[in-house]
Amino acid sequence: MSGLNKDGGLTAPADGKSLAGFRRALLGWYEAHRRDLPWRGTRDPYRIWLSEIMLQQTRVAAVLGHYRVFLERFPDVATLAAAREDAVLAAWSGLGYYRRARMLHHCAREIVGRHGGAFPESADAWRELPGIGRYTAAAIASIAFGEPVAVVDGNVERVLKRIYASGLPPQQCWTRAEELISHKRPGDFNQAMMELGATVCLPAGPRCPVCPVQKWCGTRADAVRELARPAKVATAGARRTGERRNGRGAGAPARRQREIWCALDERHGRVRLVKRARDASIMAGMWELPEWTTAPHTANGNALWRTFRHSITVTDYTVHVMRDAGGRAAARRGRWMALDEIQQLPITGLTRKILKAGGII
Ligand code: SF4
Repeated sequence: MSGLNKDGGLTAPADGKSLAGFRRALLGWYEAHRRDLPWRGTRDPYRIWLSEIMLQQTRVAAVLGHYRVFLERFPDVATLAAAREDAVLAAWSGLGYYRRARMLHHCAREIVGRHGGAFPESADAWRELPGIGRYTAAAIASIAFGEPVAVVDGNVERVLKRIYASGLPPQQCWTRAEELISHKRPGDFNQAMMELGATVCLPAGPRCPVCPVQKWCGTRADAVRELARPAKVATAGARRTGERRNGRGAGAPARRQREIWCALDERHGRVRLVKRARDASIMAGMWELPEWTTAPHTANGNALWRTFRHSITVTDYTVHVMRDAGGRAAARRGRWMALDEIQQLPITGLTRKILKAGGII
């Protein structure tokens, strides 16, 4: 690693004095500029654990409402452990990636059943629980219990690669993060690194002039130059620095397009729903409107009501919703469910979207 960055300033923090300055600058910025999010300002492991699971692969804005509702329904680990899985999935409905909800529930039962409801206090102990990986364990242990263990998510990885001006392999990112972490305030430090990546060191347009750690950043000058260039050139620059996990640029998985039809039949305060197979690859065991994959003949009893766009992981769906489609065999599958029953069911995000659009829930 070179000794100076391109502006002749210090490179990534390496000695004690430089490290202390880096931490001070980052933490000071975090205190002044962090977003006011409901899981901040608490050290309650249950709340921190829940927020970390919800935030996996999901935007903060999408999590906010669900987090509040979930906590109202399951305010502590004992309530969550005692709940039926269907009730947990119903509260998760709309967040997607339902395996997370199942693992959360399974993990709550382990904490209550095997640990008497007491949360583990170290990252190593958290990792012994089902569904808890290195990142989640470190996030909870550092934020809730003050253990000096670093976290590396996509945002932190990007920040580290830019600070060290290097395409660090994953293991080295963890090593660098462990070197940088503040032992006095590990939870705040980890959150500050993530916040920096989420709000300042952005994938395609890093805001270097307002960055609190620009003095220690090995690519700051490059990044500033990228900002001054037309967008097309900046994209090429982002590609060169290997920013592939963020956005849909080079390296993003190709998206698939699919077209489906489904039936929205409502009779006497009930709606016909189908339960997905327990072993379905996604959204197993959840309820949805009857659907099929071939275009129906347009005739009486097959009235197109509305068309929706809906995305799940790498697939973009065009969804044609038929009302009064009872003449079609596929639409007659499933069970009539009362509206108050539906409120308690784990329904898919698409079905929730359609029922809401129809003013049914
Ligand atoms: S915002 Fe700019 S200066 Fe700050 S870490 Fe990212 S690339 Fe470096």
